[in-house]
Parts: sequence; structure tokens; C-alpha cells
Amino acid sequence: MNQKPPPVDRVAASRAAVAARRARALVKSRIASGAARPIDVLAASEDRESAAASLRVTQFLRAIPHIGITKTERILSDLGIAPVKRLGGLGRNQRVKLAEFLDTWEKSSPDVPRVIVLAGPTAVGKGTVSQYIRENFPQVQISISATTRKPRPGEVDGKDYYFVDDEEFDRMVAANELLEHATVHNSFRYGTPRAPIEARLEQQEPVLLEIDIQGARQVREQMPEARMVFLLPPSWDELVNRLVGRGTESPEEQERRLSTAKVELAAQDEFDARVVNDSVPQAAQKIVRLMGFREDLN
Ligand code: 5GP
Repeated sequence: MNQKPPPVDRVAASRAAVAARRARALVKSRIASGAARPIDVLAASEDRESAAASLRVTQFLRAIPHIGITKTERILSDLGIAPVKRLGGLGRNQRVKLAEFLDTWEKSSPDVPRVIVLAGPTAVGKGTVSQYIRENFPQVQISISATTRKPRPGEVDGKDYYFVDDEEFDRMVAANELLEHATVHNSFRYGTPRAPIEARLEQQEPVLLEIDIQGARQVREQMPEARMVFLLPPSWDELVNRLVGRGTESPEEQERRLSTAKVELAAQDEFDARVVNDSVPQAAQKIVRLMGFREDLN
């Protein structure tokens, strides 16, 4: 007798497919940014239910910095693995061979030049840390943002920011000259000029962006390989002290920024790495190391 197949919940199935695709995209972007080691992803794929297991071996290899289409084909043919295989479907032997390859690759591959985004809550000291990096690590390039706010005493146009008016900022946005842009603290607009970043990456050199969280999210969308670093205060009280202590904002503005800071702190899990700003030199050094520079370059 012919039995009818059970009814398929198409909506649920397509939702599950979208979620699985997203989970795979996240794994790939974590590999690309250096946040996840390929060898750890391979190990995680032993769990058949994991996102890593459902990743095709071709997609997996392509996510690794410096491995392109041609290299992927060669590696798979050397290892005797069909390109359509998923990580979870690899045989024992294939798994061992791939792990061996990844181990060798990791040891021999150069540090990857990338965009490093430094974000964090207001008043955490991003500006101070990036200033320290600028002064002590001249090999690190820091992107110069455009902003519609007026220069503060001592700030130099073209060094601290490109100070522009609203009209010029609108023009830059319309001409797609900004990699990201956002209105910060409900007041002024800030944006990262795209061309210097691209020029820098073409030279295989890393660049540091010190921007707010809205901007960081836009960069991550556009450049999943960017490494996202979140600067944390040693404690909430310390953050309040810093904001009130610097005395540059009115009490109302301080209140507004503190409530923004609470929301911003909640975003930390979206980042690849967290650095606590308990000492500026140490935080700076950690960030420089996350950029792939070795300390002896200092
Ligand atoms: P300030 O006006 O104190 O120099 O900076 C205010 C805020 O704007 C800081 O949180 C800083 O990270 C952020 N910011 C500076 N440049 C940019 C930028 O290019 N893009 C975005 N999204 N935020 C920026």
C-alpha cells in the first residue's frame, strides 16, 4: 500500500536553510578575519550538527587568507578530496591529511594584512589608545576620518580628521567615497575615506580604523575579513569616572553618552577580540599585535 509522505513544513524548512547558510557564512568570515583557526573549525566539524560540518571543503579552504581558487583545486587534488565534499563528510584519512596540511600552512603563511577596526563604548579611551599607537608604532597606519564637527584646539586638518562641512560630507557619501559613515552621539557625522584604505591594502599593508560601533558594523558587512577589536573599560565605574572626569561634556551630554555607552557595551560579543584598556601602553601593544605586527618591529 502506498503511504503518503509526512507533510513538509516548507516555511520552517526554508527558515532552517537560511539559518544554516548564515551560520556557515559566519564560520567563513571568522576564518577570513583570523578570528577562528581553520584547524579548530575542522575539529569542530566532527560534530555532524555543527555549522562547520555543513561547510563544503572548497568554501572552507577559500575562506583561508591567501588561498584562492587555483590553490584550492591543487590542495584538494593533492589530498584526494572531492570539491563537493562537506567537512562533516570527510573520511578519517582525509581528515588527518587535511589537518596535516592546515598545520603546515599555519606555520608557513605570512601574517595577513587586513583592516583592523577598533571600536568600543564612548569614553573608553579609543582616541588615547590610537594616539599612543600613532606616536609609538609609526609602522601602523591609522585611517584619517572625515567629520562635520569643528576642530578642537590643537587638532590639525588632514592629521586628526578631515574637517568638512555638511555639503562636502553629503558629496562624499553620494560619490561613494566613504567606506562607512555614521552620525555619532546624535550630532556630527563621521566617515572613513575609502581610497586610502584600498591603496594601503593593495600594498599588502594593514590599516587601523578607530570608529564607532555603527561604523564598525558597516565595515564588517563590507569586509568580512576585517578583524574587529572591542576596547573595554576595566569596569563600568571606571567608564563613568573617565566620562565625567574629562569634563569636556555638559551634564546632559554626559547622561546621554552614558546611556549610549550601555547599549554600546552590549555589542561586544559581535567582535572578534576584546582588549581591556587598563593601561594605555599595554592595550596599544595588544592591538598592534592583533594587526599582525611583531613587537620587535617597535
Ligand atoms: P571625537 O569627536 O571625540 O573625535 O569622536 C567621536 C566618536 O566618533 C568616537 O567614538 C570615534 O570613534 C567616532 N569616529 C571617529 N571617526 C569615525 C569614522 O570615520 N566613522 C565612524 N563611524 N565613527 C568615527
